[in-house]
Amino acid sequence: MSIHFFNSLTRTRELFVPLEEGQVRMYACGPTVYNFAHIGNFRTFVFVDILRRHLKWRGYRLLHVMNLTDVDDKIIRDARAAGLPLREFTEKYVRHFWEDADALGLERPEVAPRATDHIPEMIELIGRLLRCGCAYHSEGSTYFRIASFPRYGVLSGSKLSGNIAGASERVEADEYEKDDVRDFVLWKRTQPGEPTWDSPLGPGRPGWHIECSAMAMKYLGESFDIHCGGVDLMFPHHENEIAQSEGATGKPFVRYWLHAEHLLVNGRKMSKREGNYYTLRDLLERGYAARAVRYVLAAVPYRKPLNFTLAGVEAAERRLKRLNETFRRLREAQTVAGATADDVTTIAQIRAAFGAAMDDDLNTADALAAVAQLETTVNVALAHGTPTESFKTAALAAFDDVQAVLGILDPPEAPLLDATIEALIAERTAARKARDFARADEIRAQLAAQGIILEDGKDGTTRWRRA
Ligand SMILES: [Zn+2]
Repeated sequence: MSIHFFNSLTRTRELFVPLEEGQVRMYACGPTVYNFAHIGNFRTFVFVDILRRHLKWRGYRLLHVMNLTDVDDKIIRDARAAGLPLREFTEKYVRHFWEDADALGLERPEVAPRATDHIPEMIELIGRLLRCGCAYHSEGSTYFRIASFPRYGVLSGSKLSGNIAGASERVEADEYEKDDVRDFVLWKRTQPGEPTWDSPLGPGRPGWHIECSAMAMKYLGESFDIHCGGVDLMFPHHENEIAQSEGATGKPFVRYWLHAEHLLVNGRKMSKREGNYYTLRDLLERGYAARAVRYVLAAVPYRKPLNFTLAGVEAAERRLKRLNETFRRLREAQTVAGATADDVTTIAQIRAAFGAAMDDDLNTADALAAVAQLETTVNVALAHGTPTESFKTAALAAFDDVQAVLGILDPPEAPLLDATIEALIAERTAARKARDFARADEIRAQLAAQGIILEDGKDGTTRWRRA
């Protein structure tokens, strides 16, 4: 196995070698919980999900941390407008975020810490920066001294002074009384009406950047393998994370930085004013399937800009319908003993091509080309009559790969749920035998409501499938 990633830090494609053999530690910047996440955010989260699935599929143990930013300028502004305490306000959007994540089939990170639960860790880290001369107090706030970190700009190539004007609003909002215009805030002094924490730094609240350094190092150690996020976070957020972390520890913070490119909608930047702004629930309310949205977000390799269109989601729905149908027919196919050597070899080649594409910096486009080839091979085999047992086994294993890594197929049938369905079918069969047709119909309706379709055979047996 040889996984390669494009490392934003070195701007080269590199062989992935984790610090500890067999174990990957990774951090992904999570959502700011003041609103529903939009599909641009979810492009990054789907990329992170595919990254984690691929690493696990390749046999690594994984420790994946994703923070929830539950205190910042925008959250405070909107919580105040809603007349709610910070925690109560953010709680709702944390819940909605996980609902959306579940709908998109995102696996949960091993740890999902909230910033406001880690204020002591942030204060401790800022204390270290003060002691080593990387930070200073000014008028009640504490700032990082960029002049103390000569490697500043190593990730983004930004040497700053010229970049500040074009930087995000977060930097602007993070500017107060600094020694140097480039310095960024670590701890903000209390403002009237804002949530505040007592600390040796004075009463105040953390700046945005420090939270990721503090939480990443708490759960993953001072040096770890992968840090990922959207490309818009590269500067200043990730650059500042490097400066804070390495300034405090003197050790390399992260080995591999991975950044997902922008998402456009109909070729333009997504904005509410342009009317091309979508949250996941906007799309679900219009009747689109979450899995088709996932497919669209996954299909373009993460380092290429993705142009999202509703026509693209519709095409993905059709594509997935055909793919799931092939998968179902394969699962249900009768087989004959023996092996068809050619077909089994073809499946082995497809599986190898799929794995190689994903190993190549998560090239999902090439991986999906392998999936299309799998689909064709299976359809041809089924059209030619009863496949052999060895062909069916090999092809099912290939579909398992696709599901494990890309998660685009209909959810696998959970054994427990299957048992429940079969118990209900047995009860219905007994009811029919006892001529209690009302009860039999009731059970059929109950299963239909959950998308389970029953097919009664001539001999009284009942087969079932998911709609
Ligand atoms: Zn972050």
